Amino acid sequence: MSSTALEDKFAPLRRYEHIIPGFNEFLKCLEKPLPKTVRLNTLKAEAEQIMASLEERGIEFEPLSWYEHGIKLLNVEKPGNLLEYFLGLIHPQEEVSMIPPVLMELEPGELVLDLCAAPGSKATQISQIMGNTGHVVANDVSLERISLLRDNYERLGVLNMSITMYDGRRFPLACQFDKVLVDAPCSCEGVIRKDYGALKNLSPGLYWHMHRLQRALLLRAVKLVRPGGIVIYSTCTFAPEENELVVDYVLKRVEGLELEPVEIRGLRHYPGLIEWEGRELHPDLAYCARFYPHVNDTGGLFVAKIRRIS
Ligand code: SAM
Repeated sequence: MSSTALEDKFAPLRRYEHIIPGFNEFLKCLEKPLPKTVRLNTLKAEAEQIMASLEERGIEFEPLSWYEHGIKLLNVEKPGNLLEYFLGLIHPQEEVSMIPPVLMELEPGELVLDLCAAPGSKATQISQIMGNTGHVVANDVSLERISLLRDNYERLGVLNMSITMYDGRRFPLACQFDKVLVDAPCSCEGVIRKDYGALKNLSPGLYWHMHRLQRALLLRAVKLVRPGGIVIYSTCTFAPEENELVVDYVLKRVEGLELEPVEIRGLRHYPGLIEWEGRELHPDLAYCARFYPHVNDTGGLFVAKIRRIS
């Protein structure tokens, strides 16, 4: 496709031309299907055993560069049809979606909250990293999506999870968690490679509607984490209104929060923005990470790591 035709097709994304390096490569990449990646579920078997089983059945794969429990399938169209899926040995999960739990510095025995958890890819990964110890509260506002979460946690052999159905903005302040994940609802621009439908609804109205919901969720999350604990905020969109502007809002209103640098060895990212449309943002927002599709051949992700220091 010519570069003009590409630009027309992805016109709503043109607002990012000056912040996404290699913008033409970025647009070309959105035309390519996403690689099929899965997480090896070590709650059910050793990673080596799962890989041996896949190899024996002629399934070709390569390891992810940065995560020992993620692989890229090379000759499978639908990982959800594999025997290993039904046995709970693998979980289809986009590569960058595996990043937020890895940043949580999870320790066995901790109390963890996933405020927007359904369908549970990250919540079940948290259980996996904690080796089914401690406790994970997986919350979501949508009953329909919670039933998918329930299916996933049963299939994957998760034993340390309870499910709640609160509006995350009003999750009860009854106890404090060691770690909280806010994988926020968003405009989903980062999943365009999987679903062009996300392009249809993009508008400033949507970005600001999401911004208000997201900042209320993050404000609740920083109240729910204990001093010294970590909140991870992530979205799969490129919109600064839903990313840096949300974190900036919360940092400026709540004392005792610090951003920490996001670093994933083996994956390249660009720093968070410290300016958007004439607004100056908190300088530490540069510690956040923007993962763009054309840089690592993935979907898109924004992630911030916040520590409550007091
Ligand atoms: N973390 C999930 C995973 O990895 O499988 C994906 C979460 S998805 C990006 C965002 C979720 O937020 C949706 O399941 C949606 O139902 C939920 N959500 C939307 N508004 C919410 C609210 N006010 N409180 C809690 N959850 C909400």
